[in-house]
Amino acid sequence: MNNKINTDEFGIFLLWAGIITSLISYFAKSSFLYTLGFVFFAYAIFRAFSKNIEKRRLENNYFKDKFLNPIKKSLGGFKGDIKSKRNDKDHKYITCPICGQKLRIPKKKGKIKVKCPKCGSKFDARS
Ligand SMILES: [Zn+2]
Repeated sequence: MNNKINTDEFGIFLLWAGIITSLISYFAKSSFLYTLGFVFFAYAIFRAFSKNIEKRRLENNYFKDKFLNPIKKSLGGFKGDIKSKRNDKDHKYITCPICGQKLRIPKKKGKIKVKCPKCGSKFDARS
């Protein structure tokens, strides 16, 4: 990441939040939202030119940890799940016998039919 101007995830979030809030305030004619949008922008600009890089970095880490990661986790696709939940108690990881794609199946379901999302082949698996 370059430090010429501090653009990080939190900064981008603030900019988008500012844009969205301003747009909504325009249509909703809400001065509260207008002010809020302005605050988002002001903070984004403040952060972008802040010399206190360490503090901005901590802020960004906090933002990622508390806000971005939970969202990513809930939206997270299959791949992210496999990486982060290798020892998931409720699921078992198997490999597609046709293409080798890693698949996650629910545990304790006995013999189940699995359809591979990659190659589309169907096979039986024991969980
Ligand atoms: Zn497959």
